[in-house]
Amino acid sequence: MTDRIFNFGAGPGVLPEPVLEEAQRDLMALPGVGMSVMEISHRSKTFEEIIGGCEADIRRLAGVSPDYQILFLQGGASLQFSMAPMNLLSSGGKADYIVTGSWGKKAVKEAQKVGTVQIASTTEPDSFTRIPEQSELKLDSAAAYVHFTSNETIQGVEWNREPETGSVPLVCDASSDIFSRPIDVSKYGLIYAGAQKNLGPSGVTLVILRKDLLERVPKNLATMLDYKVQAESKSLFNTPPVFGVYVMRLVMKWLLAEGGLEGMGRKNAEKAKLLYDAIDSSGGYYRPHAKAADRSNMNVTFRLPSEDLEKKFVSEAKASRLDGLKGHRSVGGIRASIYNAFPKAGVEALVDFMKRFQASNG
Ligand code: PMP
Repeated sequence: MTDRIFNFGAGPGVLPEPVLEEAQRDLMALPGVGMSVMEISHRSKTFEEIIGGCEADIRRLAGVSPDYQILFLQGGASLQFSMAPMNLLSSGGKADYIVTGSWGKKAVKEAQKVGTVQIASTTEPDSFTRIPEQSELKLDSAAAYVHFTSNETIQGVEWNREPETGSVPLVCDASSDIFSRPIDVSKYGLIYAGAQKNLGPSGVTLVILRKDLLERVPKNLATMLDYKVQAESKSLFNTPPVFGVYVMRLVMKWLLAEGGLEGMGRKNAEKAKLLYDAIDSSGGYYRPHAKAADRSNMNVTFRLPSEDLEKKFVSEAKASRLDGLKGHRSVGGIRASIYNAFPKAGVEALVDFMKRFQASNG
C-alpha cells in the first residue's frame, strides 16, 4: 500500500486498511457466494447475515440493549435533522436544541420547519470555541427531547460528557465522533450518525433509537421517513445501501479486534494529545480554535499567523503526502481530522512537518 497518503480529510474520511483490503479481495465474489455484495438480493440469506452481523457487532461494541432499535438508513445525517423532529415532535410540541457549531445550527433550521425549537444554549457568540456548562443550559422539562451535537466537525469542539436532561430524551448527532470512545447508550433516546467518518462509506446512516419512542411516531408520515416502518421492516423496507452496510460490518469487526471502544478511546486520546502538544508548544505560532477543555479528539482546528502562511502550509503539507488539512471555509485555518482509522504514524508525520514549517517560516 505504498501509494496511500495520510488523509486528514473531514469526511468521507480514512477507512482501516484491513477493511479496504478485505473489501477489495472479495469484491468480485464473496467467498462461497460467487457474486459481489453489490449484486446479491438484499433479501438473500447472505445479506441477512451481513446486516444481522453488523447489528450484532454494534450491539456488542457499544453495549446496546434490546430496548434499542438499530436502523441503517439513507439520506445522511442531514436527513436525520428532519426525521428526528418529524417522528419525535408531536404537533404543538417543542424541542430544546443545544448549539455548539455549524452542524447544530443546521439541525435547528430543519427542526424549525417541523415544530417549535427552543435554543437551550448557543456558543455562537464565542465563535463556537467551547461547550456550555450544564448551568448554562436553559432546559424545559416539558420539551419532547434535547438535541446536541457530540462533536462539531467544522469547529473542532467535542463534548466530554452528556448534557443532563432528566427524563427528557437526549437526541445526539454523533456523526463525527461515534464509536471513537466508550459510550453509555442508555443515556440516550436517539443517536444518529452518517457513516463516512468513523463507520464506513457515505450512503448509510446509523440510527440507534430507544424503542419506546416509536410510540410517538405520528400517523401518515411519508413511509420512508417513518422510524416505525423502518424498524418493523428491519431497515429493509426498500433496497438498503448494501455496499455501505457490508463495509460497516467490516469496520465493526475491525473495531472489536482493535480492543473495542475502550481501545479506540485510548488510541484517539493519544493521537490527539500528540497534535495538541505540538500546537501548545509552538510559542503561539499555531493557535488552537477551541478552548483546551473542549477540544475535539477527532477534528483538530488551528490557525497560523496569517492566511498566506496557512495556504502555504496546506500546499506544502500536501506535497509531503499529508492531505486534506485545509480548514472548512467558514472557519478557515487548518483542520486535521484524525478519525478512528487514522494512523498514529500520520499524526507523527504532521507534527514533524509542523516543526519544520515553523522553523522555516517563523
Ligand atoms: N453532522 C455532523 C456533525 C457532520 O459532521 C456532518 C457531515 N460532515 C453532518 C451532520 C451531515 O452529514 P451528511 O453529509 O451525512 O448528511
